[in-house]
Amino acid sequence: MSPQAPRSPHHVVVIGAGFGGLETVHRLAGAPVRITLVDRRNHHLFQPLLYQVATASLAPSEIAWPIRHLLRKRRDVTTLLASVEAIDKAARRIRLDDGSTLAYDTLVLATGARHAYFGHDDWEPVAPGLKTLEDATAVRGRILLAFEKAEREPDKPKQTALMTFVIVGAGPTGVELAGTIAELARATLPADFRNIDTRKARIVLIEAGPRALPAFREDLSAYAKRSLERLGVEVELGQAVTGCTAEGVVYGGKALAAATVIWAAGVQASPAAQWLEAPADRVGRLKVEPDLTVPGRPEIFAIGDAAIVARPDGRPVPGVAPAAKQEGAYVAKVIRARLAGESPPPAFRYRHAGDLATIGKRRAVIDFGWIQLRGALAWWLWGFAHIYFLIGVRNRLSVALNWLWIYARDQRSARLITRDGARLETKERG
Ligand SMILES: Cc1cc2nc3c(=O)[nH]c(=O)nc-3n(C[C@H](O)[C@H](O)[C@H](O)COP(=O)(O)OP(=O)(O)OC[C@H]3O[C@@H](n4cnc5c(N)ncnc54)[C@H](O)[C@@H]3O)c2cc1C
Repeated sequence: MSPQAPRSPHHVVVIGAGFGGLETVHRLAGAPVRITLVDRRNHHLFQPLLYQVATASLAPSEIAWPIRHLLRKRRDVTTLLASVEAIDKAARRIRLDDGSTLAYDTLVLATGARHAYFGHDDWEPVAPGLKTLEDATAVRGRILLAFEKAEREPDKPKQTALMTFVIVGAGPTGVELAGTIAELARATLPADFRNIDTRKARIVLIEAGPRALPAFREDLSAYAKRSLERLGVEVELGQAVTGCTAEGVVYGGKALAAATVIWAAGVQASPAAQWLEAPADRVGRLKVEPDLTVPGRPEIFAIGDAAIVARPDGRPVPGVAPAAKQEGAYVAKVIRARLAGESPPPAFRYRHAGDLATIGKRRAVIDFGWIQLRGALAWWLWGFAHIYFLIGVRNRLSVALNWLWIYARDQRSARLITRDGARLETKERG
């Protein structure tokens, strides 16, 4: 290299193109860096609407975008479709699934989390959770297949089990799933079947804690429970699931036969803390410093669901999309300040905008802290907020149109059983 040759710019490697990683990349636009963004999937996923894919309300392509396309105008960013398997922090290299390695100057870990089964990982095949598009299409396949099989099932107890849907965990995802499956069974499907009355499907929402939507104020939790019950959902609170098989679940000492069980409880962070042999909390989230760096490793940041950082009052920053985005923006600021030789910004401070959850059509709860909303107004606001956060005009229009159609006609156009659902089915039989 000649002495005049420019030094290759500072290399920032971002692992994970979820809410946190993508925000870091966006906020580093124009900075004197080259960026490599690594994700094991080729798309960025809007997880808050995954349950709508699982319940046939939206198509997968309406809530996911190819990462390459999102960054096509950024000549400073290289996108790699690869899974990270290890990090050599001494050599400052990451190892990818094909055995190749990639050197970094600064590393941003934004690898997110998955659902956890509280030590019962063997429950996963019978009670899938929702985290990826594959999960959502598999759950959709299971729900629709259960109705298909019930239509052909002459044995009454077996038919009842096929028409029983259990959702474990009454956080926002569990509540949203239960409400939408109830609407699917009561309003969308009845005319499609001849031998069964889909309105008789049982939807049972089981929660170990004392209330639904525990992160919300008590009155909103109570409203959510009442609204679910009005939709015909059986809400079982204070009951932990202690058994889960292809035949159904055991909870509160009783067995419930159910062909479809969906897991919406528990979170397990990605193995980033193990890669680094760094301190983590009990669900594997990396414990980071107030500037979101890994202790003793100022060149490594961890953000979003993969990390845990305390707020000034000691409560942890919640594992939600806005937190991951704010952390991503903050990390970009720190990197910029370092490269400019400026003093770093003050410690990360999370700004909580509010909590939202919907309970089927025309019912939602919103807690902004300073004001609480429930009912139809909250539902419309929830809808507008989600459409606003989607990427691209086409997707916004398409989702809005789908929702208006469901609102007016109760029709859900994505009622497709694809190979994911069929494969799960084969696996179960095998
Ligand atoms: C069903 C569901 C509903 C939700 N609803 C809401 C909601 O209504 N509101 C809200 O605010 N939050 C919601 N959340 C939470 C929110 O989605 C997360 O807090 C947010 O996605 C965290 O962002 P992240 O960037 O940390 O991780 P993610 O968005 O999960 O992104 C992680 C990325 O890392 C990639 N990755 C992981 N491991 C590797 C690896 N080894 N190699 C390469 N790439 C890897 C993944 O493919 C993924 O693209 C929901 C989550 C789920 C699952």
